[in-house]
Amino acid sequence: MEIEVRPSARVAWRDSSERGILAGGFAQKTNVCHIEQLLATRFVIRNTETMTTTTVLQGNGVHRGRSGKNRLNWAIAPVMVMFHVGAVAALFFFSWTGLFVALFLFWVTGSLGLGICYHRLLTHRSFATPKWFEYFLTICGVAAMEGGPLLWVAIHRKHHQYADKEGDPHSPRDGKWWSHAGWVLVGNALRQDVATLQRYVPDLAEDKVHVWLTKYHLAPMAILAAVLFAIGGFRLVLWGVFFRTVVGLHATWIVNSAGHIWGSRRFQTRDTSTNNWWVAMVSFGDGWHNNHHAYPVSARHGLKWYEIDFNWYTIWIFKLLGLASGIHDGRPPAHTQANRPDSGLSDSATAMASVSTMSRLPEDGTRLRY
Ligand SMILES: [Zn+2]
Ligand SMILES: [Zn+2]
Repeated sequence: MEIEVRPSARVAWRDSSERGILAGGFAQKTNVCHIEQLLATRFVIRNTETMTTTTVLQGNGVHRGRSGKNRLNWAIAPVMVMFHVGAVAALFFFSWTGLFVALFLFWVTGSLGLGICYHRLLTHRSFATPKWFEYFLTICGVAAMEGGPLLWVAIHRKHHQYADKEGDPHSPRDGKWWSHAGWVLVGNALRQDVATLQRYVPDLAEDKVHVWLTKYHLAPMAILAAVLFAIGGFRLVLWGVFFRTVVGLHATWIVNSAGHIWGSRRFQTRDTSTNNWWVAMVSFGDGWHNNHHAYPVSARHGLKWYEIDFNWYTIWIFKLLGLASGIHDGRPPAHTQANRPDSGLSDSATAMASVSTMSRLPEDGTRLRY
């Protein structure tokens, strides 16, 4: 598979000062304009052979988040109903072991897998890890049942590009319920076609392991379910698979819904993102969402000492263990990105990973140097 970027995209990056602006996000209105122009660059896919990532990656949901809004997604909705029934059933088969296993797996999949890996590492490249560790963390994310890395990252990069505008897959401006779970159950957001995925995740599409994990994203969950059944029977499966997965889904979705509805706004971003402590608690720190939209490439979302950010603390421990490097820690991305050693991303992928929608500096005097 070979992807060619037409020359116009390269021209946009030759001026290093412009690159700094694009990669950063100190925000002039022209930023978004430039980024959208860049993202609109047409990739010529010479070998369309196949990147069959998952059975739901069909159809067309390219630029309209609400396209086909009322059409039930029959590949997803019945599975979601089944998992919620299983989660409620778990409550009738309570055991402390089951609860402990569920909480542990919620941390493994929700924090290590989604918050740290899918979000801060793969989507925004906020830090770097050895490849073997990146793949391990990705498997943790795949086990969260939110799709493979290519699909998840593509949707989230698109969210940052069009945040609360036409094209955002899950903005509360299309309805609170829509932003929480509606966009998963109906509509085309999870029906991204292959060309769209390649456009949003050219970096991951070149990685055979990530493509494989996206194609077989149900495998880790199936193996996990079999192991739990062998250890503790159906009761443990109810807690470790069904209950844990449903809690994890809502913990992610609540960032998309409540994290764009309720809370405070330190930064005047051109979206409705908020900082919300209880969203941060259930999402291991991703609820400092206004901070994040202002500085997407920062690995640190909780910017004040009292903004608890478990994902950031874990990344810090990774650094102590020699498993994390090149960490963006809250300094202005425009500065750090321009001086950053090779991140391994193409220019277009770097742009997508760092789209900021900030329009003004914080009003409370926050300085992003810690
Ligand atoms: Zn958001
Ligand atoms: Zn993000």
